Amino acid sequence: MQILTTKAQLFAFQRTGSVGLVPTMGALHGGHASLVRRAREENDTVVVSVFVNPLQFDKLGDCEDYREYPRNLDADAAFLESLGVDAVFAPSPEEMYPNGQAIWVRTGRMGEGLEGVTRPGHFDGVATVVTKLFNLVRPDRAYFGQKDAQQVAIIRRMVADLDLPIDIVAVPIVRAADGLAESSRNQRLSPDERPQALQLSQALFALRDGATLDKARAMIDRLDYLVVVDPLTLNAVEPDQRPALALCAAWVGPVRLIDNLELS
Ligand code: AMP
Repeated sequence: MQILTTKAQLFAFQRTGSVGLVPTMGALHGGHASLVRRAREENDTVVVSVFVNPLQFDKLGDCEDYREYPRNLDADAAFLESLGVDAVFAPSPEEMYPNGQAIWVRTGRMGEGLEGVTRPGHFDGVATVVTKLFNLVRPDRAYFGQKDAQQVAIIRRMVADLDLPIDIVAVPIVRAADGLAESSRNQRLSPDERPQALQLSQALFALRDGATLDKARAMIDRLDYLVVVDPLTLNAVEPDQRPALALCAAWVGPVRLIDNLELS
């Protein structure tokens, strides 16, 4: 497995056949592994990017969430090697944005609701870095987790609207045995906080099993939102419409967690 930290190294990297890209921010866990395994099954060459993208954080990365985001490239590289990855692209922010970033991909209304309410500009940062990664790696397929349902919907729409010749593959959410959706941010939860983090998945499961939206919302102490939306457009729908997707976000200790569940 090669570790590439510059664009020049990436361009010189010898690829064969179809290329699958898995974009990540590192601090890898079982959720990432399921994306990588799927990419490994479906492609001749697998590239994983590890880049904590300042553009998608508050104040372009001048914030605690960006500074405190867990980073451990050595552990990530060992993990990816064990999964049979061909190359890791792990650039510095300066390598990715040598001149800052004047021109952005704008996600408009799709990026303004849900996560976009508390994270204005987040999805513009995501769409911009993903476009750059697509241009740098030139994959045939790119793999995204359903964990970030709004991200998947936006990337699918971006690829369609900008005619990018890339297949987007969405991979189901990986959960711990107790139901908590795997997330790099879980590392920042103390042992005392972890039970509270289970409130998100438990509220979603309750909703799926027939609880009212009000009852499910009441199960989460520091709820940001719990809504039922159309899976493709992410527009709000009546709670009893099917198929539908329930999405939630909540604060637990110092971290903001998200989760979602298909209601069908
Ligand atoms: P991140 O490193 O958090 O930006 O995540 C990189 C990719 O892994 C994104 O496409 C995420 O949606 C996906 N991912 C993160 N957590 C999970 C999970 N628990 N299950 C499935 N995919 C995930």
